[in-house]
Amino acid sequence: MDGVERSKHKGRRRALVAGGAGFLGAHLCRRLVEEGYEVVALDSLVTGRLTNLSGLMDDTANGHRLRFVRHDVTESFDGASFDPIADIVFNLACCASPIHYQAQPVHTLKTCLEGALNLLQLAHRNRARIFQASTSEVYGEPETHPQKEAYRGAVSTTGPRACYDEGKRCAETLFFDYRREHGVQIKVARIFNTYGPFMREDDGRVVSNLIVQALRGEPMTIYGEGRQTRSFCYVDDLVQGIMRLMETPPGFTGPVNLGNPVEVTVLELAERILALTGSHSRLVRKPMPTDDPTRRCPDISLARTQLGWEPRIPLDEGLRRTIAWFAAQEASRNARAMEVDRDCA
Ligand code: UDP
Repeated sequence: MDGVERSKHKGRRRALVAGGAGFLGAHLCRRLVEEGYEVVALDSLVTGRLTNLSGLMDDTANGHRLRFVRHDVTESFDGASFDPIADIVFNLACCASPIHYQAQPVHTLKTCLEGALNLLQLAHRNRARIFQASTSEVYGEPETHPQKEAYRGAVSTTGPRACYDEGKRCAETLFFDYRREHGVQIKVARIFNTYGPFMREDDGRVVSNLIVQALRGEPMTIYGEGRQTRSFCYVDDLVQGIMRLMETPPGFTGPVNLGNPVEVTVLELAERILALTGSHSRLVRKPMPTDDPTRRCPDISLARTQLGWEPRIPLDEGLRRTIAWFAAQEASRNARAMEVDRDCA
């Protein structure tokens, strides 16, 4: 009996989410559990956190289940400590923050390539649909604006971002070659900047940095002049886009842009966060990182027509929710610190 039959035999669809304890992965796992999937979340826990999945692992109230397995996708699934059976596979396994993916660039490339290969093999064996979390970084420093899927990108092969950008580009190629050679059902999304609860406060991303700095009254770091743009999508919208993509007929593979087409400068973002937090933090300039793209905004016409999807949550609303989550994290951190002080006194 093959994987699909075995899984269906148990009467429950089984989803395998690689990178399941990361920011995006955890939101996706939550949604899949809500949809009635039995979920296996894989994560190396290099940047993912088990606390992101809290409440899900023991959610048996409705017969829903999530199992966490510590596994680095660069390692083969042969002899894995779990049954690698799935109806649907999601590859979100890779550090997405520049400071983290640049800290171990060789491992980042291996994660993109060997991770994609291992997961494609698994999907092939299971006759499962497989999702690839690709990225707007495949466009590099774009020469066209906004970016359509047909644009082939301008990417440095040698710069500090190349391990991620080129790794993700090559992973897309592997996905399409696997489809051509083995008929695997693939779905590829190019994900633009996404934000929301469960981002790491030490992730170095602009949204998390600026919110945490504003809440703590610390200087808010603006790289370069702050005139570079990004387009920020609230995580619930993004997850909805992924779910819609997975429901498309086999003939639709993507790549499809998933992101919010509302473009803002980093300075505008900082001003919104200042207004929403009521913080008196000042802005400080820091050097612009190498190869940092100056403009980025998705053209989402394809997602609109093929998936019937577009983001619903405006930036201010998404920021309000994200600020509330970070504020709660700060409050419990401070409460813990006070407890330790009391115990030591
Ligand atoms: N950025 C910034 N201050 C920060 C962190 C980031 O001005 O504290 C800038 C960064 O240089 C980039 C933009 O914000 O131009 C988005 O950075 P992020 O790392 O969030 O996303 P990515 O560059 O991967 O799109």
